[in-house]
Formats: sequence, C-alpha cells, structure tokens
Amino acid sequence: MLRFAPSPTGDLHIGNLRAAILNYIIAKQTNDRFLIRIEDTDNARNIDGKDKEILGILNLFGLFWDRLVYQSENFKQHNIIANELIKKGKAFYCYCTKEFLALKKEEAIKEGRAFRYDDSWALQCRDINPNPVIRLKGADSTTIFFDEIKGECKFSKNEIDSFVIIREDGIPTYNFACSIDDMIYDISYIIRGEDHTSNTPKQILVRQSLGYLKEIKYAHLPIILNQYGKKMSKRDNESSVSWLLSQGFLPQAIINYLLSMGNKPKKEIFNLKEALEWFDIKTLSKSPVKFDIDQLRYINREHLKALNLKDMANLLESSDLSIGALAKVYLEEASTLNELRDKIALIFSKKEITSDNMRLIRDNIMKLVDKDSKSLEDFNSLKAKLIGLTNLNGKDLFQPLRYLLTGANKGPLLNDIYIYLRFYLKEILRS
Ligand code: GLU
Repeated sequence: MLRFAPSPTGDLHIGNLRAAILNYIIAKQTNDRFLIRIEDTDNARNIDGKDKEILGILNLFGLFWDRLVYQSENFKQHNIIANELIKKGKAFYCYCTKEFLALKKEEAIKEGRAFRYDDSWALQCRDINPNPVIRLKGADSTTIFFDEIKGECKFSKNEIDSFVIIREDGIPTYNFACSIDDMIYDISYIIRGEDHTSNTPKQILVRQSLGYLKEIKYAHLPIILNQYGKKMSKRDNESSVSWLLSQGFLPQAIINYLLSMGNKPKKEIFNLKEALEWFDIKTLSKSPVKFDIDQLRYINREHLKALNLKDMANLLESSDLSIGALAKVYLEEASTLNELRDKIALIFSKKEITSDNMRLIRDNIMKLVDKDSKSLEDFNSLKAKLIGLTNLNGKDLFQPLRYLLTGANKGPLLNDIYIYLRFYLKEILRS
C-alpha cells in the first residue's frame, strides 16, 4: 500500500501535494492501494477543520483514496507496542526533566561537541519527575537505506541516539507513530519530502527493534525553493495550494507543473491520467528546484486553452457558452481564471462616458438594439451602420467603441469578440 500522510497543522504545501500526487501515481501504476493518513499527533499545532480542507483539495485534484485513517485512532496501539519494546529491552522509561536535558545540552555546546543522549541518565531525576517519557534505544550499528532518488543513504550509529517514542502525556511522537502505522498498514513504498530524510533511519530502527523485516522502499523529494533560492516557507504565498487555487490556477495545471519540476517529462502539457502511463519517479532530479510561477502560468494557460466552452463558462460562473468562447479569445492576454474574470468583469462594468463621440456611438448602438437588431448581427454590419449614423471613422470610431464594448483601451480584435458580446449589448452599454 502507498500512503500520503498530511499533518492538519496548516495549509497544504505544494511540496506535500507533490508527494501526494507521486504516491497516487505509484499506487495506480503498481495496482496497489492508496491510503490517506491524517497525522494528528501534535495536539498543540493541529488546526480544527484543516483535515477536511486537505481532503477536499485532494478530491479536487482527483487523488482519490482507498482508505482514510486518523493517526490518533491508533494511539492505544502505539502505547501497547511501546510497552512491548520495553519488555524486549529495546525501549526504556526516561525520567530526565527538561531542565536536566537543557543543562546537558549547554555542557555539550560549551565543550564544542554535538549533544547526544546518554542512556545512563534515564533514572537520574526519578524522584522529582512523576511523568517519564519512553525512549527507544539508539542504533548500535550503521543504518543504510536506498533512496530511489538520492541513492544510498548512510547514518552512523552516533547520529541516532535513544529518542523519545512516547511523550510524558502518553502521546506518541511523530517518528514512532509514523513508523508503526507504516507497518500496520503494510506500506511498501514511502514518497515524501527531503526534510524527512533524517527521520527515516529512526523509523527504520523502530521497526527493526520490533523484528519487522519487510523492507520499505523510499524516495525523498528534493525541496522546493522560492524565487530567491530559499526553502519555500509558509510565508511564500505560492507555497499554499489553496492560494494557487484562489488565484485561478487549475488543478490539472498545478499537477502538470509539479510533475515537471526538476524533471523532463515526455510531454510538456499533460494531465494526471496521461502521466499514469509514463511517469517515472527515477527521472526526478536530486537537486532542489526553484518554483517558477511564470512557467506555471504558461502551463495553466495551455490547460485553459484545452477546456471545452462549457467547462470554461462554468469555471467563470456562467452557463452561457458565449462567455466560455469570449474567455478563450482573452487567453491571448490572460493566464489564470482570475485574470479572465477581471477582463470579463471589465466588459460588463458600467463605463464612464468621456467624450461626445463616445456618447454618440453608445446612443446609436442602443437605438439599433431596439429598432434594427439585424444590423447588429456581425461586427462588419455594425461597423458599416455606425459609420453611416455617426459620420465617424478610423480612430475616432474604434477607440471609443473598443472602450464601450470592453472597458479597456487595448485588447483582442473587436472582430473576434463581438459575436459573443452582441446578445449582451444592453447590459454592456448601460448608463
Ligand atoms: N505528517 C508528515 C508531514 O506532513 C508526514 C511525513 C511522512 O510522509 O512520513 O510532513
């Protein structure tokens, strides 16, 4: 089984969405199941409703799961297993107070060495600390695992000292809960962000201590950098999937972009269904990748171009195919749904009449709407009629006409958009 394990502690980050897409793709390609596990171990940081929001986004992106679980459902099981580890001599109670550990850390800093937990400290504060934690015994040999993207990863035993698996309140730590759950749900392949690479040997050690022999495959995805080359954080708007959606990027375009990052996919523009046929995780680059909003805009525009008129209209909150067609023309100068919405809103906005010519043109079109709608059928006959009625031509006619019809002084050829506007003339020209 494959899994995606989001924490309900904030907006879904594009790095996490990328992991979700890749896990989904591998599940489909290998005919395996796809599990969503909400990792709600961090009570203080969990945000009410974030789980539902994340699930809603996964649905929107077409990443449907076979099973959904919440990590907290297994807390009892995690505690039972921790106690088994104690019985086996692989874990122990540690009574060290926070103050004691802080002191030891300070000592290490002063002496210029890395802090490492010493198992002999476990009972030191027994008399003053009624709430011990449980620690797993650190590694006694080197841990090696093979990463599908990074290759061999090696961690010396010094890097993995005895670490906390159950906190003083009985809640399991992330590494413990994650490792046990990957075992319980029979996970075969884990794809997640590079920031978890150093957790992997700890999670392997948990399962080894239990005698669980199944080898799990790993792929750690390179981090995503912002435009300044720094790790993309919550402060970068573009890192939030909800933000990208709110700006009018299409889910299929975001998927296309995320699968193209640090990669040379077979095609430039594709959807998830196509990617299932040829996507190969091994082709992903090991190096961090910069998020390039201009490239996403380009891809988004291509996906908008590919929409049928009905879908385009619906996305713009209209049931009229003309609006869909109008939007398609405006893709000449827009790359997101929001930009299209703005262009269309401008067309339907109330225009300020700024010259006598403009007033003359507007009044004449309004008259034609009521009395001679035949002459409004196409742009050429409207043009001919207006030249006759107003005695205007060239710039004097077309500049005010463009503004009256579109709310802008520049834009697509009027000839290309007029057929979609003609049934709305009254609304467009209202005063
Ligand atoms: N809850 C972790 C995260 O959101 C999951 C990491 C993992 O896939 O193991 O980063």
